[in-house]
Amino acid sequence: MENCIFCKLANHEIPTNIVYENELVTAFEDANPVAPVHTLIVPKAHMDNILGLSDPDLMVALKDAIDQVAEIKGVKESGFRLINNCGADAGQTVMHLHIHLIGGVSLGEKLI
Ligand code: 5GP
Ligand code: ZN
Repeated sequence: MENCIFCKLANHEIPTNIVYENELVTAFEDANPVAPVHTLIVPKAHMDNILGLSDPDLMVALKDAIDQVAEIKGVKESGFRLINNCGADAGQTVMHLHIHLIGGVSLGEKLI
């Protein structure tokens, strides 16, 4: 989609710090990390949010990316949190589906 920053980052139109990539998904470092590990997992195809996700192949590719990023970032054993903000009340600021993978520190039991 034109003028979508995550379309451009996920498809190499703008260089970024790519952690992992497969055919359908790119994972890159968050520009404003909230923890020692904070990677964004992003479909290469544009969809505004998770409600636009219907392709089973993409669902598998996203799960594979989660697995690989956790391994690469060294948090597979220690654990990590996945966050997906969907819409205004969730505080979604970039309107291209992305999953935050956060870890490298004990995040505690509180969700919010
Ligand atoms: P949201 O609140 O939409 O779930 O999160 C958007 C995330 O994208 C934020 O954590 C923010 O730091 C990150 N972000 C916004 N713009 C850019 C950018 O241009 N490059 C990267 N790498 N991350 C970005
Ligand atoms: Zn996009």
